[in-house]
Amino acid sequence: MAQVVVAAGAAQMGVRVQVLWPQFSRNKFLGEGLELSARSRLSTQLRLTKIYAKVVTIPIELEEATEPPINLFKPKEPYTATIKSNQKIVGPKAPGETCHIVIDHGGNVPYWEGQSYGVIPPGENPKKPGMPNTVRLYSIASTRYGDDFDGKTASLCVRRAVYYDPETGKEDPAKKGICSNFLCDSKPGDKVLITGPSGKVMLLPEDDQKACHIMVATGTGIAPYRGYLRRMFMENVPTFKFEGLAWLFLGVANTDSLLYNEEFISYQKQYPKNFRYDIALSREQLNKKGGKMYVQDKIEEYSEEIFKLLDGGAHIYFCGLKGMMPGIQDTLKRVAEERGESWDQKLLKLKKNKQWHVEVY
Ligand code: FAD
Repeated sequence: MAQVVVAAGAAQMGVRVQVLWPQFSRNKFLGEGLELSARSRLSTQLRLTKIYAKVVTIPIELEEATEPPINLFKPKEPYTATIKSNQKIVGPKAPGETCHIVIDHGGNVPYWEGQSYGVIPPGENPKKPGMPNTVRLYSIASTRYGDDFDGKTASLCVRRAVYYDPETGKEDPAKKGICSNFLCDSKPGDKVLITGPSGKVMLLPEDDQKACHIMVATGTGIAPYRGYLRRMFMENVPTFKFEGLAWLFLGVANTDSLLYNEEFISYQKQYPKNFRYDIALSREQLNKKGGKMYVQDKIEEYSEEIFKLLDGGAHIYFCGLKGMMPGIQDTLKRVAEERGESWDQKLLKLKKNKQWHVEVY
């Protein structure tokens, strides 16, 4: 029995049925859907089998805008959204906790892949008593359709910020991060004040669907790329048919810290010509000099190919902790010099051509 998820834009009227995830077996919808007897509306291939699926309506109008939505909700008048789900997504051996949080915005705070939401945590600003807490930004980890494909949710990938006293080495709960702890502790049904969406630098350039996208992430920096990759390989929207190359470099501490690994492995199996996935596990792997394996070591390993792709117009993206950039820039500079090129000039050109996208925090 085939199990698929179909989106029925106007399926009930028999106009169009779009198959979204036939390839993705860990779809949370599987098994909980209704039995479709939509013979006339499904493709020949699918008509051969009995299909259990949940029908969702894809709001295709989300493709129609020519400009991304920007700051629809501002800190003085945020949108009150609702937490839909909250799931810890790292294993027990991961240092620290990272959660995948789905926020229901009811379709009222639309966004594009690569944008961020602001979150205003409840309570008083500890630095300004009597004043509310300030906005914290979080990259959105879903496509504009959200994980449920109805255009009503946005997913965040949040790492809980904890504080360890440098002298005692003990955790000090009084100094823990306010917003990340609020989000990681949140439960379905809780209210959350959001602002945005914001940001243009990480928007996925969609004019050339044969383009090459080299994506470099550390930790939660994976968030925007999860959105891109779902758009490229999981969804099947009529206006975006990706035929280029997406190459993801993800750096985390260890295997248990890998984020959305199963999704990426699934794309690798399904689209080996269009998706490459390389990981750097700093606490488990060694680089060629015998040191810890960081994401820049992986970049160095493939530098010949990366430089060729950049020369051919590839986009390169960096997202994650600020600290990732100096090591990466040093590596790229060294490789450029070994190739007899000036990195400074190359970087200027990449920036001028809008191939260089950085969002670090
Ligand atoms: P805060 O309360 O702001 O505290 C900041 C840090 O200071 C914490 O580590 C805290 O432990 C420490 N601290 C608190 N009090 C003290 C004290 N008295 N002395 C010393 N240290 C103290 N984060 C993600 O997890 N996922 C994302 O996708 C993501 N995307 C982002 C995108 C952008 C564009 C930007 C700018 C940031 C992004 N961030 C993301 C980071 C996020 O905005 C927050 O900065 C982060 O979650 C920490 O916020 P917080 O409120 O939990 O910590």
